[in-house]
Amino acid sequence: MKQFLNFINGQYVATGKTFENRAPVDNRVIGLVHEAGTAEVDAAVAAARAALKGEWGRMNINRRVELLYAVADEINRRFDDFLEAEMADTGKPHALASHVDIPRGAANFKVFADIIKNVPTESFEMPTPDGGMALSYAVRSPIGVVGVICPWNLPLLLMTWKVGPALACGNTVVVKPSEETPATATLLGEVMKTVGIPDGVYNVIHGFGPGSAGEFLTRHPDVDGITFTGETRTGEAIMAAAAKGVRPVSFELGGKNAGIVFADADFDKAVAGIMRSAFENCGQVCLGTERVYVQRPIFEKFVAALKEKVHALKLGPSNEPGVGLGPLISAEHKSKVLSYYERARADGATVVAGGGVPKMPEALADGHWVQPTIWTGLPESSAVVREEIFGPCCHIAPFDTIDEAIALANDTRYGLATTVWTRDLATAHRMGREVQVGLCWINSWFLRDLRTAFGGSKASGIGREGGVHSLEFYTELRNVMIKL
Ligand code: NAD
Repeated sequence: MKQFLNFINGQYVATGKTFENRAPVDNRVIGLVHEAGTAEVDAAVAAARAALKGEWGRMNINRRVELLYAVADEINRRFDDFLEAEMADTGKPHALASHVDIPRGAANFKVFADIIKNVPTESFEMPTPDGGMALSYAVRSPIGVVGVICPWNLPLLLMTWKVGPALACGNTVVVKPSEETPATATLLGEVMKTVGIPDGVYNVIHGFGPGSAGEFLTRHPDVDGITFTGETRTGEAIMAAAAKGVRPVSFELGGKNAGIVFADADFDKAVAGIMRSAFENCGQVCLGTERVYVQRPIFEKFVAALKEKVHALKLGPSNEPGVGLGPLISAEHKSKVLSYYERARADGATVVAGGGVPKMPEALADGHWVQPTIWTGLPESSAVVREEIFGPCCHIAPFDTIDEAIALANDTRYGLATTVWTRDLATAHRMGREVQVGLCWINSWFLRDLRTAFGGSKASGIGREGGVHSLEFYTELRNVMIKL
């Protein structure tokens, strides 16, 4: 049986307390995860603190950048190990994990190595009252020990999205991966060791949130800042913990994202785009579209076309050719998603596709499978339309005018992403200006340039990461003023 150990100060550490890691495709136990208690969390934070004072803290930027490049290269060299680990933990299709999760996991180190090497800081010359001059300039310092708390939906990608910039800026990290997906964070410890990242710079502790490693980490007084991706409710708990000591937080949280399809859109591209945004990764993408609004003249045609695509989706395990949809992450998440399937029926939805549990071959019968589902006919007040479900499903409603589309898109407490489909430039730009989200895609979805700002407004997050924006969180600016 695989053992997922904590990685503390360059060593793999077992604990007396383990919990099972199960494969979503068939609910088989695939490993035992060693849960960190306060002693292990203390040790990890102490190692991260010590590393700041050691070789890592003194390392020049060129060497740091070289090491981050080496991390990316080593992930790519061990691509298949990471791929297998991620697919076993999540059950996601091979095509997705091999094209998105693992390559992006490696790229995150290179991108931020490049950014940190090339980023300028400001400087000003200032006349002084005595007729002389002063020179003011900014120096960037790491914030220190960063707690990194991660979700399970894109485990390596989202973890390295935080660890890459944190290390590029000279911080050290203690990572708490999701209890559902311990594998790739653990494996990354081997990579760090192989390429020569000093001990204590990258630490991993395993466990849950409340009363476990997550809470111990966020409450730890020697953690200087917390970067978190996950549910909005969890963000609230972490923010309360971070208030003690007034520690900074960077939050990427939940969403209830709208997809807006105008009648002038390229119809086939819009259908394909909404299909991806609603069903990729079994709908377990924070940026996914669970509310689709289609302009009335093409509404019926659009619903029929999406239905056809959903019926053509093949469900199955990661390595089966042609599979487009894997299982949900856990039994608990499956019952949450199915509770919304029930709720949709109770609220009077028309079930256009799916709506239940698929019949899978016997070997997969215990996996966390649900049918990809489309509804129409729900009122905007239904919990199905208002709350994040995080499953392979969407509700489609008609709209008439652009004003109505904007109002519908913005009528939510969340503000993460919108995808808009239109050929009209003025419509596209007006949507881009007026939707209250961190990310607005026009005629696309999930297109990311890692140099650009990423994050959510309203209840979808605090702060932006990506490119130089990550430096806002991972560094502290010091102003140095020299009287000349
Ligand atoms: P989650 O909030 O349940 O858990 C995320 C992490 O937080 C896990 O590691 C968990 O153990 C830990 N945690 C839970 N309670 C904690 C506490 N009190 N203190 C410290 N740590 C705690 O989220 P999830 O179910 O793993 O992921 C799905 C959610 O993540 C969805 O809401 C999704 O929208 C969101 N998400 C957002 C983004 C984004 O970029 N905005 C990206 C991916 C996922």
